[in-house]
Amino acid sequence: MAPFGPLRRLLKRGGGRGRGGGAEAALKLDFESRRLRMVETQIVARGVRDENVLSALRKVPRHLFVPSDLRTHAYDDEPLPIGEGQTISQPYIVAYMTELLSLGRDDKVLEVGTGSGYQTAVLAEIVREVYSVEMIETLSRRARATLDGLGYRNIVFRTGDGTLGWSEHAPFDAILVAAAPDEIPSALESQLKVGGRMAIPVGSACQELVRVVRTKRGFERNRLLSVRFVPLISGPEWRR
Ligand code: SAH
Repeated sequence: MAPFGPLRRLLKRGGGRGRGGGAEAALKLDFESRRLRMVETQIVARGVRDENVLSALRKVPRHLFVPSDLRTHAYDDEPLPIGEGQTISQPYIVAYMTELLSLGRDDKVLEVGTGSGYQTAVLAEIVREVYSVEMIETLSRRARATLDGLGYRNIVFRTGDGTLGWSEHAPFDAILVAAAPDEIPSALESQLKVGGRMAIPVGSACQELVRVVRTKRGFERNRLLSVRFVPLISGPEWRR
């Protein structure tokens, strides 16, 4: 029996795009609906309100930043492995940290720990320029390819030790650190503008997310949330 109704329309559409085109389009829609659900149930439900952050999370295709065998888990409420012993952060943590930065359209942001590039894309959706440093060459290269493929043109990448910041482009309106040092690196604080904000996990066994604001007189530091990040590698460990 010939297919009719919606099925025929689906097959026809698929035929127009070559074999599998319809299935691909359906999969894309499925990822989009999972993404919108993720934002409602994991992000809005937990209190993130910044519209710039919410629309960035609704837009960035997180499934393209995780290994292909984990794609169906891309919108789950958890971090995922991305290779080289590293992880892509849980979506809520990405949203929460981005909101902490109180970003504006004209901001220039430094990110330490590019990883998969997912957080980088979220930042690049919101601000003018993102400078992203990653110490592992293969991760940096892969993230760069993903983000170039998606058409982002406002990101500058570097492979190196982000503990030292990026003095050539300092000062920054905001700094986001995606790996945890034992103490806040002074180079990062010194590369914040007055009024600049930083979100950084601090500690080893027990970590806390800290929001730093540079004021005219110094730095305000607030501990906000218990978190678990991979360690920020630096000094002798970095050279090993
Ligand atoms: N935000 C990332 C999460 C990356 S995990 C994402 O969305 O995928 C933290 C990353 O920090 C890892 O890729 C790790 O290699 C990197 N890293 C650790 N120490 C670093 C350092 N000193 N300088 C730059 N990157 C570092």
